[in-house]
Amino acid sequence: MFRAPVATGDDSTEGEPLKIVVTGGAGFIGSNLVRALADSPRITEIVAVDDLSTGSLDNLLDLPVRLLTGTILDPDVLNEAVTGAASIVHLGALGSVPRSIDDPLRSHHANATGTLTVLEAARRHQVPHVVVASSSSVYGTNPVLPRHEDLRPMPISPYAVSKLATEAYALAYASCYGLQVLPFRFFNVYGPRQAADHAYAAVVPRFVTAALSGRPLEVHGDGTQTRDFTYVGSVTDVIVDAVLRRVSAPDVVNLAFGVRISLLEVIAELEAVLGRSLQVEYGPPRAGDVRDSQADSSRLAELFPGARRYPLRTGLEATVAWMAGRVLTVG
Ligand code: NAD
Repeated sequence: MFRAPVATGDDSTEGEPLKIVVTGGAGFIGSNLVRALADSPRITEIVAVDDLSTGSLDNLLDLPVRLLTGTILDPDVLNEAVTGAASIVHLGALGSVPRSIDDPLRSHHANATGTLTVLEAARRHQVPHVVVASSSSVYGTNPVLPRHEDLRPMPISPYAVSKLATEAYALAYASCYGLQVLPFRFFNVYGPRQAADHAYAAVVPRFVTAALSGRPLEVHGDGTQTRDFTYVGSVTDVIVDAVLRRVSAPDVVNLAFGVRISLLEVIAELEAVLGRSLQVEYGPPRAGDVRDSQADSSRLAELFPGARRYPLRTGLEATVAWMAGRVLTVG
């Protein structure tokens, strides 16, 4: 389904006050995004829609945002949220490959049907621009590295399939209804406000909380598997720019910087940040996990020349600082 990766920045929003809706706004990336949007004088209204299934009210404390607590599967909730919006940033979803293996239908409903419900709300209310979050997991077992957007998706988990549906629905709405869409593929985003306290937590918050609590770090496999770890600040910078310039694209766009980091390297950096060595326990690899991941970031650079990567050390320092506060308060 190759289409030329041409970007459009629609200048018609220039100078206008903007209302932005963030689904999943009480989650990790969503709440960091709300913070970043609130810093832009052009953005005069922010509405978050979240059912708080994995997100938390704490993430939005003291922020200038209206939270509608409810599911994106409910059109009434979306009707109330999106009226008059300039853009919807659709992040609401059930993350995690293992969660989707345990309960594929639930992940499908939230991620695939949820995306369709959000796109329908955009269509009903003539919201011109929708940014959606897909995932590097859609590349799955395709062996080619780095992952260029034109590679054939070979998903190996229900989560990855539901994210492929997310981006495909967005592109179909662009084609059928003229909606301006920007489907991003995120790659292992990490940073402050990422939940560590549930069974499906991602690797960085799991490592950091274990390290801060004096527990061994649990590695699935031998730790040489690689990921393109992306600090959340890079992701939110790009999304803010995307809504301010109303950037859309005729195909998916990787949102990562082409750096391949093994779990063993993450542990070594964490040891450097904490100034001590950490105990590691190795277990069997997990079903559904891909072995290596690294983005080709040329399309991102073309669309967002100002996009910048935060070094792993800087990102881990910010993550550790935030989680240290949590570990001390939560105990
Ligand atoms: P998160 O779990 O912290 O945030 C998702 C938010 O969506 C949560 O606040 C949750 O309560 C909410 N939500 C879930 N189902 C909902 C529903 N039916 N109705 C309303 N709200 C609902 O996860 P995150 O890491 O912030 O992920 C944000 C988006 O980015 C997701 O779409 C995820 O699939 C995608 N993504 C994240 C990563 C990553 O590394 N964090 C990687 C690839 C893709």
